[in-house]
Amino acid sequence: MSDRVLAYGGGWLDRAGALRADPEWVSARLTDPTAVVLPLWRDRCLVSAAQAPVRLTGADAAGALAAADETVLLGLEDGTPVFAVDLSERAEADAVALTGAAGTADVRALVSRLRPAEAAVQAYARGLLHWHRQQRYCGSCGAATRPRDGGHVRACAAPRCGRLIFPRIEPAVIVLVEAPGSPDRCLLARHAGAPEGAYSTLAGFVEVGESLEDAVRREMAEEAGVSVAGLAYQGSQAWPFPAGLMVGFRATAATEEVRVDGVELLEARWFTRDELRERVAAGRPLGRVDSIDHQLLGDWLAAAD
Ligand SMILES: [Zn+2]
Repeated sequence: MSDRVLAYGGGWLDRAGALRADPEWVSARLTDPTAVVLPLWRDRCLVSAAQAPVRLTGADAAGALAAADETVLLGLEDGTPVFAVDLSERAEADAVALTGAAGTADVRALVSRLRPAEAAVQAYARGLLHWHRQQRYCGSCGAATRPRDGGHVRACAAPRCGRLIFPRIEPAVIVLVEAPGSPDRCLLARHAGAPEGAYSTLAGFVEVGESLEDAVRREMAEEAGVSVAGLAYQGSQAWPFPAGLMVGFRATAATEEVRVDGVELLEARWFTRDELRERVAAGRPLGRVDSIDHQLLGDWLAAAD
């Protein structure tokens, strides 16, 4: 799976990492008449009546830049600067009117109809602007922070402090656990809050001082009482909702005994490929179609027994 691009990833823009550190270069991009501006309002993109994310150019782009609470340079698309602007401090209706949009939408609700690049760039904009809204004050001294480097760093404005704050990514592991022995089976669980009969793979956040592998072993033991070995990396997925990075693994359980924690997991059980195929045939999808969970299960199902 490692070579496949999952939804919200793909590296579609040149992020201009070295250039964006130069404020004059960024200023020149802001006045570039070809610049594209993507407006967002509180984690939602502005959309047309046809539910297409709004891309502003020319005078409309300049107007949105002038009105923005926060502006970030996402990168260059074939040399054209692409910015995202945050309009969250306005009422939703004002943001809609300002951008000539018809409404707002969550990119995750639109993903099936967007081109992969469009979904990825919208998710990137959402995650980066969300981070800015959460980092307005310095965690060390409490002074205000200011964006720099095209919005990829914030710096504490207090001269004695000046701490630099970088966007934070929160990694989580997501694991397809296989049973020992035959027949082939995988472990799926019903998570707290999930409806009856809705099963998915096991997942959890990486904690401080842990490798990804440590997190896999701990989470599987804590949540399902399963000891795992034979970890194999499967791929990763950007999940900036608001700051996730999903890292997919396969692992094999030492025993078939399962003991859920009753808090995060309500129920966990082993499924054969036939059982999963029957569920799919009965109209029960394997997780969210845009998620690595779906991909892990799809790959496992595609293998021969
Ligand atoms: Zn400070």
